Amino acid sequence: MNELTKKAAIITGASSGIGKAIAHHLAEQGADVVLAARRSERLKELAEEIQQTYEVKAKVVETDVTNKEDMERLVQVTKDEFGRVDIFVNNAGVMLLSFMKNDHVDEWDQMVDVNIKGVLYGIHASLPTMIEQGAGHIINVSSVAGHEVFPSSTVYSATKHAVRALSMGLEKELSRSGVRVTNVSPGAVDTELTDHITDGDVIDMFKNRSMEPLVADDIARAVAYAVTQPETVNVNELIVRPMHKQ
Ligand code: NDP
Repeated sequence: MNELTKKAAIITGASSGIGKAIAHHLAEQGADVVLAARRSERLKELAEEIQQTYEVKAKVVETDVTNKEDMERLVQVTKDEFGRVDIFVNNAGVMLLSFMKNDHVDEWDQMVDVNIKGVLYGIHASLPTMIEQGAGHIINVSSVAGHEVFPSSTVYSATKHAVRALSMGLEKELSRSGVRVTNVSPGAVDTELTDHITDGDVIDMFKNRSMEPLVADDIARAVAYAVTQPETVNVNELIVRPMHKQ
């Protein structure tokens, strides 16, 4: 059954990994999807793939989530095309793990800009429309690192704790507005996320990792579950971890 028919969903960070999988799963449920990220060529390929597979529209909006005007435009384009914004998935993120002693200060800046300010700009751009509609759903992708802090995840964890705080505050503030809020906290997922790590000590540490990570679809199913619940049901927190090898 297509639970999201006639709904418009915006997904940031849709050019790879979890965001791409979320776009597929929401389209499968009947939502028109608006795909946002910087790499627009990838987004165009995904849009074609989605339109050929499901009976929905897929629109590409090249977006840098650290740019407030880009995020405002993303929402405006969605409203112009579909007349409403039902779901906004704040998924774009970077995980530039490093040890504090190695002083990767530019990467700290980047994580704060993308992971925290990007989510804030997503809320800024979409929330007024959802409040006016009296309905909407904001999904923030945090992390298990938003619940715990691991060696080398100090700054990344700080940003993901912030995302979770934003979700918790929003959920309480909006509980009578018709706007639902879900915070999704994945454990390790096999995506491009770790490819951007530059700290040699962390790269060495990862070589000895024994965990079998999740796949992006595992997280996308969790998001699809949250957004297809009856409108009286507000799924606030989902933590999805991989099993350890036996
Ligand atoms: P990927 O690296 O595969 O995807 C990250 C996405 O974020 C890309 O689409 C990238 O698009 C986008 N992005 C990065 N910077 C920007 C920017 N400035 N503006 C717009 N888009 C941007 O990683 P994942 O799919 O794994 O990550 C998705 C989310 O899941 C992140 O928030 C991550 O922190 C979280 N997460 C992931 C886990 C994992 O183990 N993989 C575990 C826990 C949480 P582009 O480069 O084209 O702009």
